[in-house]
Amino acid sequence: MKIEQKVSLASHSTMGLGGQAAYLCSVANRNDVAEALAWAKSNNLPAIMIGGGSNIVWKDEGYPGLVIVNDVLHYQIYQEDESNAYLTAGAGEVWDSVVERSVAAGLTGIEALSLIPGKTGATPVQNVGAYGQDISQTLTTIEAFDSQTGQFVTLRGSDCAFGYRTSRFKTTDKGRFFIITITLHLTRGKPVPPFYSSVQTYFEVEGISDVSPAALRQAVMSIRASKLPDPAFVRNCGSFFANPIIRQDQFISLNASYENIPHWPADEGVKLPAAWLIEQVGFKDVHDNATGMSTWPQQPLVLVNEKARNTADLLAFKQKIVDAVQAKFGIVLQQEPELLP
Ligand code: NAP
Repeated sequence: MKIEQKVSLASHSTMGLGGQAAYLCSVANRNDVAEALAWAKSNNLPAIMIGGGSNIVWKDEGYPGLVIVNDVLHYQIYQEDESNAYLTAGAGEVWDSVVERSVAAGLTGIEALSLIPGKTGATPVQNVGAYGQDISQTLTTIEAFDSQTGQFVTLRGSDCAFGYRTSRFKTTDKGRFFIITITLHLTRGKPVPPFYSSVQTYFEVEGISDVSPAALRQAVMSIRASKLPDPAFVRNCGSFFANPIIRQDQFISLNASYENIPHWPADEGVKLPAAWLIEQVGFKDVHDNATGMSTWPQQPLVLVNEKARNTADLLAFKQKIVDAVQAKFGIVLQQEPELLP
């Protein structure tokens, strides 16, 4: 395992911004993980694990310790019976490749999570979800290195404190566990309706009535491709803001002023699309010369680095949006990509 010094972190974030890592290495298996963490400990350095960098914004001051890039590859399906299968995937596997292979195997459970950028190990951290599916619905166990006890552990899905786009890995136990593999319980069968309206419309237009996992994957890929930029060509971190959930009474008073607010019931209140709020305050397809940042024309939730000089520029642009939404609606948008360190 090679440990490099003074590595630019801009190439480890699809936003293409950030300072330097004091040290950086790649890990390919559980031994590498243990070795990398032991090295950091013996040198009295903090350590952090990353995947594809698609949900990370690095601060300009960089990272003062060891950045561990997870490249643990593994893919195995254990067929329990005719309708149940367990899929174990390495944290370093490209997530969409895992989805693609599971769909090709005729399995349902994660096909609505198609084309989500990044690696597999990142999916439990924010309980990645899209179009009605999220990872907590299928995740059975996680194999991880527990830096608190110095041991490899197996965590059950029910131990992960999953919530709407959240888990213990980004709250109470942030930085504690280094994920090696995840195991999902998938089934052989068909995705269950109702589908999100954009997905349903796709099926109607395409004349699809018998929905297979492959058809749902195709629908999601088509919808995402039509409104989201490809991070391989356009520097962005996907949705920059989480969709806010507000209290019922807050919603009632907002709805009195803005009758057509799109909304959906959520566990703890009412869920609003952040994209709609941003559009209402005039930030759709905005190109900001002062910061070199823009919002993507088809989806204003996506902030694009056109020619930002640094992360400070990105954060200044983000704040303009947050302030405008707060001034008009009294809602404080929360940043979705993690700001590190
Ligand atoms: P969208 O499909 O335009 O939906 C916007 C908002 O409306 C989302 O909050 C979505 O809920 C909600 N919504 C739409 N139809 C709904 C229905 N039938 N029932 C309940 N809620 C409904 O959103 P988008 O921004 O283009 O994103 C597409 C999908 O990718 C969404 O599901 C979004 O949550 C997901 N996404 C996830 C992440 C992540 O996991 N970090 C990041 C970006 C986008 P939900 O948010 O509950 O789906």
